[in-house]
Amino acid sequence: MGVRIIVAGGGIGGLTTALALVRAGLDVRVVERAAGFGEIGAGVQLGPNATRVLDSLGLGEALRDTAVEPVATRFLRWADDSVLTEWPLAGQVRARFGAPYYTLYRPDLIAALAAAIPAGTVSFGRQVAAVEDGRTVRFADGATETADVVVGADGIHSAVRTSTLPETAPRFSGMCAYRALLPNDTEPVVRIWLGPGRHLVAYPVGRGARLLNVVCVAPADDWPDESWTAPGDVTRLREHFDGWSPEVRKILDRVTEPVYRWGLHDREPLPRWSTPTTTLVGDACHPMLPFLAQGGAQAIEDAAVLAASLATAGPAEALQRYEARRLDRTARIQRQSWGNNVSYHLPDGPEQARRDEALAGGAIMSLDALSWLFGHDVRVGDRPGV
Ligand SMILES: Cc1cc2nc3c(=O)[nH]c(=O)nc-3n(C[C@H](O)[C@H](O)[C@H](O)COP(=O)(O)OP(=O)(O)OC[C@H]3O[C@@H](n4cnc5c(N)ncnc54)[C@H](O)[C@@H]3O)c2cc1C
Repeated sequence: MGVRIIVAGGGIGGLTTALALVRAGLDVRVVERAAGFGEIGAGVQLGPNATRVLDSLGLGEALRDTAVEPVATRFLRWADDSVLTEWPLAGQVRARFGAPYYTLYRPDLIAALAAAIPAGTVSFGRQVAAVEDGRTVRFADGATETADVVVGADGIHSAVRTSTLPETAPRFSGMCAYRALLPNDTEPVVRIWLGPGRHLVAYPVGRGARLLNVVCVAPADDWPDESWTAPGDVTRLREHFDGWSPEVRKILDRVTEPVYRWGLHDREPLPRWSTPTTTLVGDACHPMLPFLAQGGAQAIEDAAVLAASLATAGPAEALQRYEARRLDRTARIQRQSWGNNVSYHLPDGPEQARRDEALAGGAIMSLDALSWLFGHDVRVGDRPGV
């Protein structure tokens, strides 16, 4: 009999892992605690490092139908909409990295992944409580199931991680993200306004670029410890961006109740995240602040590397190899994302002027500066010369 694999969690990481394992001819089941597929209705950016993987899993056409391919990323100054830097995406990214840069409506991405997996692969309403003896999954209702390999794709609060590794505390960034979707009336550009203590991101998503996805990152001194999402207040949201540029005001004037906000947490990079029979993917092992837009993309990369390893080696060796190939890269992205919490939010002054100069010169954010991120091909590692 082949290796039986249980994946806990049916988000971006769990579904991509399941699809990659199915494509590799392996026996996989996904157990998801929710009653159905439930990605929040918001946007996600996927760089060519992730779309290359999804294309190789056969999702190229499904994504082309629903994704937006923005023409540029543009950083703007908070006070007056002046452009700090801009780089081309569509065309340039494909030519240089061999895959597109997409912005997607999250439910479209989940639907494309779910449609590609054989019916019956995912069981809903099954909350994993713990993994016992490395192979036995115990569910919240007391039921148990045994597998040869258990993969935790169950997010930042992972029950699989808690029961297989020493516990580490999540780190709160002090920031929260308000998310909103509006009817879109803008060109296909990813716009990021940087200002003192805050930033705002807006880009179109959905079929025909019909929606504008807006993420407003602001301080959250009042964040209740135990809560990860909380209802937001539009008036408070607008106050956060008082005095910002006309375009920012125009966007925020269109946001209506209800709005929700997410506390932004990560964890210090882990030294390891596998045992001979268990491993983790995505936010379960390397949660990161969304300030490089890479959390979902890294879960997608994890999925491909894990499936390739399990297809070519026994579980213990495969999980070791997978982890070894992923530790340094994901730790680097976690650290850089955490660092952007400072550099994106500098108060006006000499440091901010130096940052803006570096941005304008393409030294810190540009296709050149990010080629280590976008040029990575999980099949071969970093591609020289991109
Ligand atoms: C504001 C914001 C913007 C972002 N923007 C981007 C972006 O542009 N690009 C990008 O790549 N990433 C982005 N991210 C990060 C990205 O959303 C996450 O990294 C990604 O969703 C992680 O996927 P995952 O599958 O690992 O975990 P999750 O999305 O957390 O999925 C975990 C799944 O497991 C299930 N589950 C949890 N516990 C259990 C259990 N005990 N038993 C069974 N099932 C369980 C959950 O219900 C869920 O379905 C952003 C994040 C935020 C907050």
